[in-house]
Amino acid sequence: MKFGGTSVADIDCIRNVAAHIKREWDAGKEIAVVVSAMAGETNRLVALTAENVVRPDPAEYDAVVAAGEQVSMGLLAMALQALGVPARSWAGWQLPIRTSPDHAKARITDVDTAGIEDGWASRQVAVIPGFQGLGPDGRLTTLGRGGSDTSAVGIAAALDAQCDIYTDVDGVYTTDPRMVPGARKLERIAYEEMLELASQGTKVLQTRSVELAMVHGVPLRVVLSFADPARPEPGTLVCSEDEIVEKQVVTGIAYSRDEAKITLLGVADEPGVASRIFGALADANINVDMIVQNISEDGQVTDLTFTVGKADLESAVEALEKGKNSVKCRKLLSETGVAKVSVIGIGMRSHAGVARTMFEALGKAGINIQVISTSEIKVSVLIDSKETERAVRALHDAYGLETA
Ligand code: ADP
Ligand code: ASP
Ligand code: MG
Repeated sequence: MKFGGTSVADIDCIRNVAAHIKREWDAGKEIAVVVSAMAGETNRLVALTAENVVRPDPAEYDAVVAAGEQVSMGLLAMALQALGVPARSWAGWQLPIRTSPDHAKARITDVDTAGIEDGWASRQVAVIPGFQGLGPDGRLTTLGRGGSDTSAVGIAAALDAQCDIYTDVDGVYTTDPRMVPGARKLERIAYEEMLELASQGTKVLQTRSVELAMVHGVPLRVVLSFADPARPEPGTLVCSEDEIVEKQVVTGIAYSRDEAKITLLGVADEPGVASRIFGALADANINVDMIVQNISEDGQVTDLTFTVGKADLESAVEALEKGKNSVKCRKLLSETGVAKVSVIGIGMRSHAGVARTMFEALGKAGINIQVISTSEIKVSVLIDSKETERAVRALHDAYGLETA
């Protein structure tokens, strides 16, 4: 069971979570609980590091931002004990949860579950902080924002257990229910679709958590934390495609305002140029998403546009302009006022016309498309970020998602 930040936002919430765990425990279940930091706490810690120094040391950054989860784990273990449920906390380094050394974006490599399982022998509930792990050099690491979902799935995979993600919505919706009140809750969604939704900006599950669940076949459920115990809600099951009877052409719409656009004007149109540009970015550990390159009219130079995460923009420009592989071009333009909107569905594989519907709906709404990219089950467009909400609503309507 994983409880997100809003589910442990204050002592009342923590007591509510403890009462919920007790009901499962009373039913005889063996339980490991993963907790996030109290709502807003990780943002506060991140801001402290930024106020302190301009470019914090990555290991010390992790030492600070991992602290929020440690408070939640202790408070929840105490609250469980107060209800008569034997519980103990296990920090990431105590179990341990081993990770790669990449601070602030570490990947789980191994989870030692011996402590959890030993505790189960005496019906003890294990309370584990999400988001944090132990790097190969013995230093504390964190898994990237929203990483407690991934901690939970990693632990569930190691325990061969199912994973329930308790949050402030009662499941996965056709799009963000805070943005589109008519969004519809999905009973089931395929791993592949959830993976695309998450990687295109749907924050209900961290992308890496869905990837891990898919690879290890962990049954993943998104459920409401504050549900009435008398009327338990099934939430949304993230499962394999063959467990879904009715496959939708379009299942959901995602958006992300965390994008930035870079355009290189007048780069040489010759073999090896793309490799130099994207090599320089890869060396700086920067992910590139949408890419368009124009044909060159004169066979000499061309223009290239691509997107990176907003947080990586500064380092990307630096890598392109100053790095040892600096790129020659007439002009480098960068812009942050862009958003990516994506429509996703496994039914797209066998249905034509999905992109056309998207472009028609955006055209009718007078929204200009700057860049387009597609995969087998996704079409994404880059637009002016001020148009995000209008675009998402127009597309939700165009595919009839409210009533499908
Ligand atoms: P937690 O703190 O529990 O980890 P998050 O804030 O990370 O919770 O994720 C839950 C939020 O995800 C919801 O409050 C909702 O606004 C947002 N969200 C965005 N898109 C969707 C969607 N398609 N379905 C459900 N929730 C979504
Ligand atoms: N507390 C971390 C964050 O805010 C991890 C999480 O909540 O999943 O990103
Ligand atoms: Mg989250």
